[in-house]
Amino acid sequence: MGKIYNMAFGVYIHIPYCVKKCPYCDFNSYGVGRLVPEDDYTLAILGELDLYRDLLKNVTVTSIFFGGGTPSLFSPSGVESIIDRIASVSSLSPGVEVSLEVNPRTANLEKLRGFLIAGVNRISVGVQSFSERKLKVLGRINSPHDSETILKAVERAGFVNFNLDLMFGVPFETLKEWESDLRKALEFGSTHISSYCLTIEDDTEFATLYSAGKLPLPDEDELIDMFNLAGNLLEAYGYLQYEVSNFSKPGFECRHNLIYWQGDYYLGLGAGAHSYVLENNPPWGVRFANIRDPNRYMKAVKEGKRPVDFLDILDRRKVIEDRFLMGLRLKEGINLRDISEKLRVYLNRERLDPLVEEGFFEVLNDSLKVTKKGVLILNELIVKVLDALVYKE
Ligand code: SF4
Repeated sequence: MGKIYNMAFGVYIHIPYCVKKCPYCDFNSYGVGRLVPEDDYTLAILGELDLYRDLLKNVTVTSIFFGGGTPSLFSPSGVESIIDRIASVSSLSPGVEVSLEVNPRTANLEKLRGFLIAGVNRISVGVQSFSERKLKVLGRINSPHDSETILKAVERAGFVNFNLDLMFGVPFETLKEWESDLRKALEFGSTHISSYCLTIEDDTEFATLYSAGKLPLPDEDELIDMFNLAGNLLEAYGYLQYEVSNFSKPGFECRHNLIYWQGDYYLGLGAGAHSYVLENNPPWGVRFANIRDPNRYMKAVKEGKRPVDFLDILDRRKVIEDRFLMGLRLKEGINLRDISEKLRVYLNRERLDPLVEEGFFEVLNDSLKVTKKGVLILNELIVKVLDALVYKE
């Protein structure tokens, strides 16, 4: 059988352990101090990879992403064994992007050099802020000094391509405090900066505090100012805002995340990881999510079962909706001609044109793009665009 995936294909590896759970975080991650069951978990990932041999032998992997949780709690040798196994059961594209998330408190120069030798070629540092106050409010284990030290070490270790994550919209945050975070971040010359607004997620400590009125967040106007400041300042320093929350130097867009935004396929390994693949010939692919609990996940793999918790067989409508939902986040937008040819759908211009006239969208070279004005109410606009879809038979 030839390769059925001729587009980008990603492999995501979820490491669900952290030193301590942050109060705002709803990721599938568990605070375990330094007691990480690395060997057992690595064996489970290798075992799970074996369960997907048939799928992976038809794939050229264009990106591998170690996310979490805190993947930098793992050793370079564990990471290397996973990369090597992926390479042995599928093929890696030349220049495959291999990213690993690092919490500044859990790595040092030696470990970073080890990751580079293991095959990692892109580091994403979870800085969040250079303000002692913000980090304390966010319950982070890293200090500003930890972040500065690790960012310098990333470069010294030989990584050319690296990201740093920043967060705004933290309780009591002012525009000035956010500006000083951005300016500090610019000192490190990273190829990529992610700038996320704090969101209050259900079932987190922050959600409890928020509903008790004990979490005074900046108001909407202040958040818009912060969002615009990030865009203007980072663009002035040569970073392109290629996605709502992501900025890169030209050519350094995160290839792995582009897979999600562009509707390409990926296999997620590890507790709670999500996948979107073509398997067993459903025409529109399947999405599935792994068992979230790490121990139950490891048990299932040990028993030789795919550790899947739930699976959705997609239909054309769902694929199209996801494509708009994710694709409109990208600066390049969605190519309407492409969508019409591949997915047999078009937009009712009577519904779309008023949104263009109001300055929320522009249509350039057949691509529908959200403007700077539109991005501020993107979720509202996406609902309107989905309503304007006309499905051809
Ligand atoms: S370090 Fe990251 S993944 Fe871990 S709890 Fe904090 S925010 Fe969540």
